[in-house]
Amino acid sequence: MTDKKKLKRDTIITHAGRDPQRYAGLVNTPVFRGSTVLFPDVAAYESRDPDDYKTMRYGIYGTPTTFALEAAVAQLEGGHAAVALPSGLAAIVAAIAAFVKTGDHILVVDTAYGPTRNFCERRLKPFGVEVEYYDPLIAGGIARLLRPNTTAVFCEAPGSLTFEMQDIPAIAAAAHARGIPVLADNTWGTPYFFRSFEHGVDVSIHAGTKYIAGHSDALMGLIVTTEQYWLKVRRAAADYGYCVSPDDCFLALRGLRTIGVRMNQQQQSALTIARWLEARPEVLRVLYPALEADPGHALWKRDFSGAASLFGVVLKPVRREAVAALIDALELFGIGSSWGGFESLAIRADPAKIRTATRWNPGGPLVRLHIGLEDPADLIADLEQGFARLTQTP
Ligand SMILES: *Cc1c(COP(=O)(O)O)cnc(C)c1O
Repeated sequence: MTDKKKLKRDTIITHAGRDPQRYAGLVNTPVFRGSTVLFPDVAAYESRDPDDYKTMRYGIYGTPTTFALEAAVAQLEGGHAAVALPSGLAAIVAAIAAFVKTGDHILVVDTAYGPTRNFCERRLKPFGVEVEYYDPLIAGGIARLLRPNTTAVFCEAPGSLTFEMQDIPAIAAAAHARGIPVLADNTWGTPYFFRSFEHGVDVSIHAGTKYIAGHSDALMGLIVTTEQYWLKVRRAAADYGYCVSPDDCFLALRGLRTIGVRMNQQQQSALTIARWLEARPEVLRVLYPALEADPGHALWKRDFSGAASLFGVVLKPVRREAVAALIDALELFGIGSSWGGFESLAIRADPAKIRTATRWNPGGPLVRLHIGLEDPADLIADLEQGFARLTQTP
């Protein structure tokens, strides 16, 4: 019998969360729809275990389709268990809410995903939770910010839009010395390229909308935790009433089966294009930890086994209109929110406005690119004609 703990990640994504003999021999766990679950008698109904989130008792806690996705993601990332939520943001909300009450203090990285900050500012602060933002480069220095009432440290590596790497093991060592859990938005790393639990994360959060679902056709959140924090987090998700459609779980699981080939291919294309961009006269800097010249490269190389195909491009100073002209000229890159699908995307971004603990002044306008599964030569040709438009725009 193979030791499941020793399986490599590509084998895990192929086999995890499947039990064909339970489902008429079907390779994939089918879509199970249902709200009410019927029990054989009163005794069975009344002995339901409220902390059992792995068997059917009511549709809101999941069906076999949900459980299959949750089991597969948990096994891939190496955590104790996972819970699926209706979006990545819902996963962030449930994970943070599990650890705070009035009077508590939490530390949130200054480069966190924008809506994470909105939740902290507009929801947590009015409930009397102190939220303090910290420099993404703080590493072990986080120890100085820990207070007696600090109940969680929230990380995200690399940072949203600006791609600073964080030394998560150093942050975790400082937090754990005080018994404080580390939460991390691991959407960029994914359970495929960053094994959070081997780097000190206690609660790993994913926008499954991105590479896990991978086809721009479903919204999904996932939280994976250690055994220690599982019930705390799973109960928070239940208390907020979060549940996910079995169709979306099916799509996310279908996406997960090919996350390896997609991400490896997209990483390769992203590197090719990022290197080409580094050499362009219009470009000041490419923000991508997978590049040797990136300040976060050493940390990325130490902790991650690969890079997502999402990065930033800082242009030499030009007018806002010229940046818009570049993006508008692109024919293969779409303009829109989200990323991690099979298709390329480009947006203009200005993270300076939302920072408070650090300053963002890279010396030029920022464009965020997501590289999809198109041939990189075609994407480069598209960018080339975009740059032509940029230089023609006064
Ligand atoms: C997109 C994103 C989310 C939120 O995911 P949704 O499914 O869109 O709610 C969270 N964190 C990061 C880093 C993201 O990029």
